[in-house]
Amino acid sequence: MSEQVLPIVGGARERRRTRTVSIAWGGKKISVGGSAPIRVQSMTNTDTADAIGTAIQVKELALAGSELVRITVNTPEAAAAVPAIREQLDRMGIDVPLVGDFHYNGHTLLKDYPECAQALSKYRINPGNVGQGAKRDSQFAQMIEAACRYDKPVRIGVNWGSLDQGLLAHIMDENARRPTPWDAQSVMYEALITSAISSAKRAEEVGLPGDRIILSCKVSGVQDLIAVYRELARRCDYPLHLGLTEAGMGSKGIVASTAALSVLLQEGIGDTIRISLTPEPGAPRSKEVIVAQEILQTMGLRAFAPMVIACPGCGRTTSTLFQELAAQIQDYLRAQIPVWKIQYPGVENMHVAVMGCIVNGPGESKQANIGISLPGSGENPAAPVFVDGEKVRTLRGERIAEEFQQIVDDYVKKRYAPAQAAV
Ligand code: SF4
Repeated sequence: MSEQVLPIVGGARERRRTRTVSIAWGGKKISVGGSAPIRVQSMTNTDTADAIGTAIQVKELALAGSELVRITVNTPEAAAAVPAIREQLDRMGIDVPLVGDFHYNGHTLLKDYPECAQALSKYRINPGNVGQGAKRDSQFAQMIEAACRYDKPVRIGVNWGSLDQGLLAHIMDENARRPTPWDAQSVMYEALITSAISSAKRAEEVGLPGDRIILSCKVSGVQDLIAVYRELARRCDYPLHLGLTEAGMGSKGIVASTAALSVLLQEGIGDTIRISLTPEPGAPRSKEVIVAQEILQTMGLRAFAPMVIACPGCGRTTSTLFQELAAQIQDYLRAQIPVWKIQYPGVENMHVAVMGCIVNGPGESKQANIGISLPGSGENPAAPVFVDGEKVRTLRGERIAEEFQQIVDDYVKKRYAPAQAAV
């Protein structure tokens, strides 16, 4: 008897069900968790006390597509600057909520700077960094009381570089009493998850509603992150903020974050993501936003900007024309998207192919909305252009890049123009 062949089904697992957390600023709000899209967030690296410098970087991150921006609030000067940062953003028309990152002295800053507490849209609290022993409980409670008073959601963000040492010692003691003690790694995982969930329960006891809480448990190892979040997702229904902490620089940081987050997102785990890249000297901070968007978009979970599909090049194309054209068109699309998204709804789903020679060029170009197959070495110096699978033109000469960009422009205007309202 022949085996029945079933259709192959692609796609990520359905998102894990969570509560929905609203984050508000001015008269606006966005949601995290529930049926909200997976949010992209980022963090500034300016001195928050420098209100103008911080507002400028928040603007850069928001324009790149960050839907929440976190700023560190570590000193009285930083706390005092927060309302000015919010005002500056509002003046510039930058619609993004600010999240305050607190450690050690958050309970004092939130009490002493009520305008800061009010201007922030969410507080990040690290339960490992709110004090020791009895002080820990009371200082944590004071921060939660501030969140209740100002009606703000919180992220309880555990990080294994700053894990609550009292809790870890307690879990290690319990482990030692087991007939077969767990290994150190499992104890660490347990401590991270227990810290996050017990802190969330404590916050609810203090009076913060459960739908005002987001959790994270950041670690720097890919396999550790996957193991911890799988279990965290199983044990609670709070929305989860995903991120590999200290991911690193350049391609290492991007690859490690992508590897860890992709596995979890594929399993339906994760409601908001941040990519903790160490910027290369001189590189824009917004790179972390682009990488986060690209992870979500290449996985088919969200669309942010038209995607450029480009072949890697090989010995069949020795000129740099196709690399230059791919980079140029990608930069152009990214630059246009803030305006296009408003004028041409759906344009973020567009695919543009830039291919190096005839081997895969026409085939890949036909699959995209618009594709160009550039001439490889020794080929006829002509570049056929395909629109919606049909060859529409052949470009030649010095102005291929400009002419191709014009074709893309015309396509966007025609294909994504909103339908005229019926009269
Ligand atoms: S499309 Fe042509 S140039 Fe590009 S990788 Fe394939 S064979 Fe090489």
